[in-house]
Amino acid sequence: MIDLRSDTVTQPTDAMRDAIANATVGDDVYQDDPTVNALLGHVCELTGMAAAAFFPSGTQSNLAGIMAHCQRGDEYIVGQDAHTYRFEGGGAAVLGSIQPQPLPHAADGTLPLEAIEAVIKPYDIHFPQTRLLALENTWGGRVIDQHWIEQACELAHAKGLMTHLDGARLFNASVATGQAVKTLCAPFDSVSLCLSKGLGSPQGSVLAGSQEVIDAAIRWRKMLGGGMRQSGMMAAAGLHALEHHVERLAEDHHNAQQLAEGVADIKELRNVGAATNMVFFELDASRRAGLQAHLEEQGIQAFVGPRTRLVTHIGISPEDIETVVAAFRRYFAE
Ligand SMILES: *Cc1c(COP(=O)(O)O)cnc(C)c1O
Repeated sequence: MIDLRSDTVTQPTDAMRDAIANATVGDDVYQDDPTVNALLGHVCELTGMAAAAFFPSGTQSNLAGIMAHCQRGDEYIVGQDAHTYRFEGGGAAVLGSIQPQPLPHAADGTLPLEAIEAVIKPYDIHFPQTRLLALENTWGGRVIDQHWIEQACELAHAKGLMTHLDGARLFNASVATGQAVKTLCAPFDSVSLCLSKGLGSPQGSVLAGSQEVIDAAIRWRKMLGGGMRQSGMMAAAGLHALEHHVERLAEDHHNAQQLAEGVADIKELRNVGAATNMVFFELDASRRAGLQAHLEEQGIQAFVGPRTRLVTHIGISPEDIETVVAAFRRYFAE
């Protein structure tokens, strides 16, 4: 199967499986798993952060980060279509008693600075206390303008807020722009990085930040049920991915570009575009189920919806892209 549903569908490579099998492990709740500690040291170096912790998922890493910054009754400012707001079950509100203050995104994924400033609440017993600005990069595959990120974080800090980055796909942003991960992380007090997206690990995210923030997040992680024991096996996969699967993200970006170019002139597809490892298009509702079934018959998995997203990853080759483009062309030629 050619699976374009997400970059979470990857299979570990043989070399990654060897790294997992041969990992030296300990008990990470006692913080003495040497492989987890090696991963965390590597991430601290990459991000320029003082401390880090390993999490079972990006959802939990984001949640523990938000909970480390905000107390019950505080609020965090977040994009209306950000993962932490829309796709994490409302965990900050449900489990943290932290109210989100969502803002609509501009077309480029940024949030207007005036809009951010306008929702930062002054101290008043009627208001929740605004504590945190949470941003995301990449967002819907798009690299967010780093100059805007710097301005937004500067504004937040000037108003006494903390800043958190959901960097689930930050390595894609780094590879796409040539900017160092450390540069992309510099404006933030905490950063969550996924190892299980384009990096191709079976599991795991890392939260990085100051020692104080990470100490608090580790306590929340325990409470959330994310304290893991011999998690060095998964950390070994993550370390392997950081060593071998970062530069190759450029191939995923190239494949996405090739796919978008290959279908761009199909007149039924509207707003076709590629952004890092994602391709988007729109299609009339009457053709969607037919396209999805046709692709399935050709061994291609995709979620075809109002705005379809196809995602490239380590399991997709240039030949696969040719197969997909040909399948699209056949369907619309009929
Ligand atoms: C995948 C993802 C996460 C975390 O998801 P998990 O599936 O919980 O690891 C967070 N933010 C974004 C933008 C993501 O794409």
